[in-house]
Amino acid sequence: MNNIPPTRTMGPIYLDNQATTPTDPRVVEAMLPYFTEKFGNPHSGGHVFGWEAEDGVEAARQQIADLIGSESREIIFTSGATESNNLAIKGGARFNRSSGDHLITTKVEHKCVLECFHRLESEGFRVTYLDINSDGLINLDDLAAAFEEGTLLVSVIGVHNEVGVIQPLAEIGAICRERGVYFHTDCAQAVGKIPLDVQEMKIDLLSISGHKMYGPKGIGALYIRRRPRVRLQAMMDGGGQERGYRSGTLPTPLCVGMGEAASISRAEMADEAMRLENQRNRLLSDIQQRIPDVQVNGSMDKRFAGNLNLMFPGISGDDLVTALKGLAISTGSACTTATIEPSYALRAMGLSIKEAGASARIGLGRFTTDKEIERAAELIIGEVLKLRESKDNVTKASQLEAY
Ligand SMILES: *Cc1c(COP(=O)(O)O)cnc(C)c1O
Repeated sequence: MNNIPPTRTMGPIYLDNQATTPTDPRVVEAMLPYFTEKFGNPHSGGHVFGWEAEDGVEAARQQIADLIGSESREIIFTSGATESNNLAIKGGARFNRSSGDHLITTKVEHKCVLECFHRLESEGFRVTYLDINSDGLINLDDLAAAFEEGTLLVSVIGVHNEVGVIQPLAEIGAICRERGVYFHTDCAQAVGKIPLDVQEMKIDLLSISGHKMYGPKGIGALYIRRRPRVRLQAMMDGGGQERGYRSGTLPTPLCVGMGEAASISRAEMADEAMRLENQRNRLLSDIQQRIPDVQVNGSMDKRFAGNLNLMFPGISGDDLVTALKGLAISTGSACTTATIEPSYALRAMGLSIKEAGASARIGLGRFTTDKEIERAAELIIGEVLKLRESKDNVTKASQLEAY
């Protein structure tokens, strides 16, 4: 398409854009001067080197704010969505401990969110982990019923990293605001992909990751609402940068890159979503034609256009991923590949261990071409049929042995 990075026109096809996205070449371009020329410490207030860097950081902060409908001073930079989630959830719970000890989240959150809640449980907080519907969406009645006297915070993932399902953020926000409870959402997969507005959606805390939105790795942001005011306990002690929430010298080039990424996403989001949807539908219908029993995991309706999560009955998703030499897709989330158990998110949606194990995630992105989609369909169909055939043979052989 229009912006193919020059190094990636040939070779293996990348359809794992929910694990990470390539940095947009325009983003890299915007970052470069901040390594060598405008290298000053953005917190040095006494000279032009510092001011230049500070200008870059503040422009980036505004670009990010514009993408989610906030004020720029409500955005603080972090190292990524993992840190943002930690700061929002643990910082929010710990600061407000005197007002209560109860928290609400879902069973399908990203590992780093679930681990924050496990940590808080070990500190004496109580956590309600909401079940999820079979389509991957939360049940709003369940949410409303989960509130207690001392509920401090609700955390719900915006767009799911495995199934791409979009939660009803505005409805959740309204429920939380009515009760005066903080609403945090992990939007690592949502920012720059779907329209978000922290005012309309009544979001109090929102986590962002640079490398999921065609920005650089190692940078993220947290939106922290000012009115009504949200208060957090900082995790880092130091110079008090980022309104005291996150001490440490800001990585100017990364901040600038993330700002540029935000600005590009904002300008191109609608067109990009349309293109991704066409490509995704094409891919799905090609696969369905040859593998009619394939199933889509999660709502097709309330879903980010670039995601497919498919279940191929009778095969192992891991075998498929491994067998696909020229195509990068994945099972579950990249962050849990150390464990071999099938996706807890798919299990929470009601899939059996076998079904979850037969599933794979396909993530289209900004640089995916129509040609790649065509080729990916061929490769997936070919491998699934091959795996089924060899499995049939094994099954037949073992049946024969049994006689
Ligand atoms: C990738 C991801 C994270 C972690 O983000 P990092 O910036 O890599 O720390 C958190 N939540 C979700 C939903 C993600 O997809």
